[in-house]
Amino acid sequence: MKITVLGCGASMGTPSAGGFWGVCDPKDAKNHRTRASILVQSATTDLLIDATVDLRTHLNRVNLKKLDGVLLSHDHSDHVNGMDDLRAIAYHGNRLIDLYGNKETLDEVERRWPYLFTPKSGGIYVEFLKRREIADAGKFRVGDIDIETFGQDHGVCTSLGFRFGTCAYSVDVVNLDEDALAVLEGVETWIVDAAGYQKEAVKTHANLQRVYKWTERLKPKMTYLTVLTTHMDYKTLCDELPPHIRPAYDGMVIDTEGNRR
Ligand SMILES: [Zn+2]
Repeated sequence: MKITVLGCGASMGTPSAGGFWGVCDPKDAKNHRTRASILVQSATTDLLIDATVDLRTHLNRVNLKKLDGVLLSHDHSDHVNGMDDLRAIAYHGNRLIDLYGNKETLDEVERRWPYLFTPKSGGIYVEFLKRREIADAGKFRVGDIDIETFGQDHGVCTSLGFRFGTCAYSVDVVNLDEDALAVLEGVETWIVDAAGYQKEAVKTHANLQRVYKWTERLKPKMTYLTVLTTHMDYKTLCDELPPHIRPAYDGMVIDTEGNRR
């Protein structure tokens, strides 16, 4: 199994629209960040986590032509606004794409874009997604990939964290309860939100202090930070962080041992 970080940027990306780089060095390619999304792949199964506005760019960068499922962490716009671009994958695969999320997320996505699930407008819109409701805490399997979900406190809602064997993905999280930490126990590679960076208190995203506390307890071999804002320059982060915690970058590929390729 391998994980590709398709995007590791915060909601506005780096640079944000208008060319705002913040403190990030535009000359460093690792500061060019699209919205947060990963691809989880085995030899036979391809899973996309979240459907960002950069989805088309993401799939074309890795030359991916089919998907066995799309997992949604939550319904915030930067995680779901690229859903329309799944139409091409469904069309060329000649089948509906399974869309996994908790009830709250799927209900909100269906409320915003009913035509994704139901034929409409005299046949102009043909549905191409199939609802697959999953529990905040539970296990399921897509193809040959086992997935375990855990609920994460995102301040304003519950987001889903996902564990895939020895790897886990925790996007958009400010706090983890004991149940979530129990699921993460033994994880060797963890990709986790750190958009709060050095701020003392952020309502919706973990800061570095919080990530340090978690990693001291869970002791993953490698932890990669995602949801990186324009306040977070790649090289500065590399200098600041301990060696077992690294910033992610777009296009980073991690094998199940946690090594970057
Ligand atoms: Zn969010």
